[in-house]
Amino acid sequence: TFQNIRPETIIWGESLGQGSFTKIFRGIKRDIDNEESYETDVLLKVLDITYRNFNESFLEAASVMSLISHKHLVLLHGICVGTDSIMVQEYVKLGPLDIYLKKQKDGSRITARWKLEVAKQLAYTLSFLRDKNIIHGNVSTKNILLSREGDSSTGSPPFIKLSDSGVSITVMTKELLTDRIPWVAPECVRDPRSLVQESDCWSFGATLWEIFNGGSIPLSVLEPTAKVKFYQDQLQLPILKWTELANLINCCMNYRPFLRPSFRAIIRDLNNLITSDYELLVDLSTGDL
Ligand code: ATP
Ligand code: MG
Repeated sequence: TFQNIRPETIIWGESLGQGSFTKIFRGIKRDIDNEESYETDVLLKVLDITYRNFNESFLEAASVMSLISHKHLVLLHGICVGTDSIMVQEYVKLGPLDIYLKKQKDGSRITARWKLEVAKQLAYTLSFLRDKNIIHGNVSTKNILLSREGDSSTGSPPFIKLSDSGVSITVMTKELLTDRIPWVAPECVRDPRSLVQESDCWSFGATLWEIFNGGSIPLSVLEPTAKVKFYQDQLQLPILKWTELANLINCCMNYRPFLRPSFRAIIRDLNNLITSDYELLVDLSTGDL
């Protein structure tokens, strides 16, 4: 269902490293229309041949992306299929949010308002996907790209784009799933076939936690066995100092999927947080990180 992109229209640029199952490059797509040539900055995601068995799922993710369009979803230009499968997507200038937050951690210019705005845009996007019965399944700050920084002095908000979900967790091994704790919902680690709409709500909670903790989650560096135990014991991430925010995260990260809130309810809560007097709180993180 996606647009097929001819390899000769792509100019390859620098490598941006690796994704879970991909090699990532910058590039330029050159199109000719009425004898005029246009150049577009693109991001090229090449499925690593080691993971050839995930090809179908990788293309499925691309096909879902090409069926929908939303201002906060990364635009997929198309797929280039040859010996490799290559997703050609919009290049988002400021890159992933986890790296951005880590860079800003000291002397932070990022306000609570800014973070809540990012969270709200993400909640809107996930609510849109929910209405379309699409489960993302891979929500984390790494997959939130920043297309505009915003400026708190002028009140201009940031602008995010949620990246494609990539290879579905439903085809992954237990080992790969464990690696995604705490973003992946506990029901999916038990049995990836139990991926439901509410699983995105859990991931949203973990992502919200990450946003308020400078783009890192301590749990993510634990040994696999410790991660599995964390879920088995039904533990929670360290509680944030800001009670109302901590409560919201807690509701999203409920071990019982059907008790998690809808994205509409989450948006309402975020709006309440935005209008609350959080400016009085000095440090909104857990404090001991
Ligand atoms: P996963 O399926 O787990 O999300 P992936 O293949 O999408 O894996 P990522 O780890 O999400 O790979 O992305 C790798 C890096 O590529 C990011 O850290 C970021 O630097 C860059 N990147 C990804 N998408 C874009 C984009 N659309 N614009 C700019 N940079 C991007
Ligand atoms: Mg990604």
